[in-house]
Amino acid sequence: MNKVMFYSRKPLPLEMHKVCIVQKTNLKPVERRVEAIREAGFNSYRLFSDDVYLDMLTDSGVNAMTNGQLGAMMLADEAYAGSMTYKKLSAKLEELFGKKLFLPAHQGRACEHVIAKAFVKAGTLVPMNFIFGTSAAQIELMGGKAIALLDTKGLQKQSDEPFKGDFDEARLEEMLKNEASRIAYVRIEAGTNLIGGQPISMRSMLRAAELCKQYGVISVFDASLFQDNLHFIKTREHPELSIREITRKVADAMDIIYFSARKLGFGRGGVIITNSQEMFVEMEQYVARYEGFPTYGGMSIREMEAIVVGLEETMDEDIVSQGPQFIEYLCNELQKNGIDVITPAGGLGCHLDARKFVPHIPLSQYPAGSLAAAVYIASGARGMERGGIDEPWPDPDKEPFGAMELVRLAVPRRVYTVSQLNYLVDRLIWLKQNASLIGGIRFPEGSNRHFYDRLESIGDWPEKLAAKFREDFHDSL
Ligand SMILES: *Cc1c(COP(=O)(O)O)cnc(C)c1O
Repeated sequence: MNKVMFYSRKPLPLEMHKVCIVQKTNLKPVERRVEAIREAGFNSYRLFSDDVYLDMLTDSGVNAMTNGQLGAMMLADEAYAGSMTYKKLSAKLEELFGKKLFLPAHQGRACEHVIAKAFVKAGTLVPMNFIFGTSAAQIELMGGKAIALLDTKGLQKQSDEPFKGDFDEARLEEMLKNEASRIAYVRIEAGTNLIGGQPISMRSMLRAAELCKQYGVISVFDASLFQDNLHFIKTREHPELSIREITRKVADAMDIIYFSARKLGFGRGGVIITNSQEMFVEMEQYVARYEGFPTYGGMSIREMEAIVVGLEETMDEDIVSQGPQFIEYLCNELQKNGIDVITPAGGLGCHLDARKFVPHIPLSQYPAGSLAAAVYIASGARGMERGGIDEPWPDPDKEPFGAMELVRLAVPRRVYTVSQLNYLVDRLIWLKQNASLIGGIRFPEGSNRHFYDRLESIGDWPEKLAAKFREDFHDSL
């Protein structure tokens, strides 16, 4: 039982923690918000916290820690080599995932770098349920190619499919059958990030790993977003299993597991684990070269202590259910008010469907990027553009548009309250009613068009939007 029913039957999520430390945030007037987003080049990555009321860019490394984690940080055994903290984290990883050999790295993409260095050769292929930017980048740097084999149900924005992150297992099997010798490894991603934090079923993960065994290919599990995925397996697929049992069943099937501890484990760092001595040795040399001595791998020892506790806490259903319940609440409130979001509600955050919100903005003027800027102007909340700016989707027949034009409103864990979400919903309803005022954005001439580069508004729509806000909200922030 992890859901509390209200007598009034109001579908409200309930916090299963109390707050120990708070940080003041700022809500600046709408006129300042327009200035700030202009200064940031209409790119939410470039806003500074000082101008942000709700920081919903990501849940990476910004989740609130528990008093248990903060306390554990003081126990850190600061040693360059052979730290006892390494032993402690290694033992916790073995207890939860059943893998004896552990390599630390400074964050998730560093794990991906090490794994790609060790196993990807020019011309090799890495099939995966879906592409993630940092993973694909490391594979491509080594001359390999990342191939998405997502079941097509995953690309439907609105559905009631419980596991949109599943593999198209028939295509995976065909590829393994025909090209096993060219495949460096199969990457299995939990909580499929770029399609809206949608979970993959345990069934599909186990099937992919089994196919790998059958064809003699390494299975690599990206567990960065496993936390939410655990909740969805528990509630949508295997209610009879505990979180601990689900973790172990999945882990046992995989050759290599890695994750960003900025997400899984409520800390900051990266973890690679395996039971294969051979694979371990292959990867260890790169940890030593690029990350740090292999008992800290670029992580702060204090963070390693926090991760030990964070991983144990992740086995608690009350803790893993918080994110998904808040996200579901936010998605439902928006939907009730006619705002289209990715459904069913997944992990990570709530994803607005920008093409539906601003249908008048053409793809070439970045609807998701424009909407993210407008959301900031209307509310002081910064989300993340998930479309043609952040993840250009290579389609030779078209401009590099996004796979989906989304604005992600990430819900960092235990950071914001229900009243803050209600405020956001209120401002988004207002924005939807004034959506025709939102205009497009573009990269200036000569820009490199990176996701962190500056853009500019096409016309003065931000000022017009702010003027309408002022008219409707009088002297309110
Ligand atoms: C965040 C993330 C990564 C990369 O982790 P970083 O710590 O940001 O480098 C890899 N895979 C997935 C699925 C992620 O969500």
